[in-house]
Amino acid sequence: NQITTDMATLTREVEKFAEDKKLEIETLKIRETYRKEFMGNVSHELKTPLFTVQGYILTLLDGAMKDKTVRKKYLQRAGKGVERLIYIVKDLDMITKLEAGDLHLHLENFNIVEMVQNAFDLLEMKAAKKNITLTFDIPYEEAIWVYADRERIQQVLSNLVVNSIKYGKKGGTTEISIENLIKNKVIVRVTDNGEGIEKANIPRLFERFYRVDKSGSRKEGGSGLGLSIVKHIIEAHNEKIYVESVFGVGSEFSFTMEKSKSPSKITTSEKTGN
Ligand code: ADP
Repeated sequence: NQITTDMATLTREVEKFAEDKKLEIETLKIRETYRKEFMGNVSHELKTPLFTVQGYILTLLDGAMKDKTVRKKYLQRAGKGVERLIYIVKDLDMITKLEAGDLHLHLENFNIVEMVQNAFDLLEMKAAKKNITLTFDIPYEEAIWVYADRERIQQVLSNLVVNSIKYGKKGGTTEISIENLIKNKVIVRVTDNGEGIEKANIPRLFERFYRVDKSGSRKEGGSGLGLSIVKHIIEAHNEKIYVESVFGVGSEFSFTMEKSKSPSKITTSEKTGN
């Protein structure tokens, strides 16, 4: 009887071991597919700007260098290509860290109203170049304090506003707004009346490398990483990101933030944690 019980235990253990190994292999296979897909996407994204830069350099070496105006124009274009490569590499670095859970948030109290105003000042010119009017609508209070990673939230805001300009219509508008929600939350919205997104594409927008218009010929540069970075950052703060869009009418991207107390109202004991 004892032998039968021991055999049954042993069989169960062997079966469990085999099951665990099978799961391990499955996980490794998934990771390998992911790695291959990621590498494929990376080289695809780097190829276009690299070939552009190479093209300008070869044309310059081929004789275009002699003409002063052509030389300047081609060097500027090659410079733009390098700039684009730098953006892509930075985004890749960021997404790798985020997906590995390697991004440590540096939380601090800051005024989100001031951040929106700064984003507005920085991007107003960029919008104007495309004849897009940037506006903002903020609550009556001068300051709304939140406790978050300032630099990362700034990146979120900037990515959303830059997208609204990139995919906005000439002569259109982008509005950045902050609204107080119940339960100590605020919602920041970036609303445009640009090209909008077809319903079928909306669920995939936050996937890395996903771009609605895949043709390499599109005018607007980008890696398709911006929105997945945005989503990771917001979720790392345990907050939510939303998108609403109507094709041909416009889009609205919004995210929530938890309000904190104004630093002047935080008592010394709260600051020191005593
Ligand atoms: P990128 O802009 O580099 O392509 P993102 O991840 O920021 O990558 O955006 C993914 C895609 O979502 C874009 O390629 C574009 O098709 C679409 N998109 C993002 N923002 C907007 C917007 N405001 N209006 C219309 N389409 C947008």
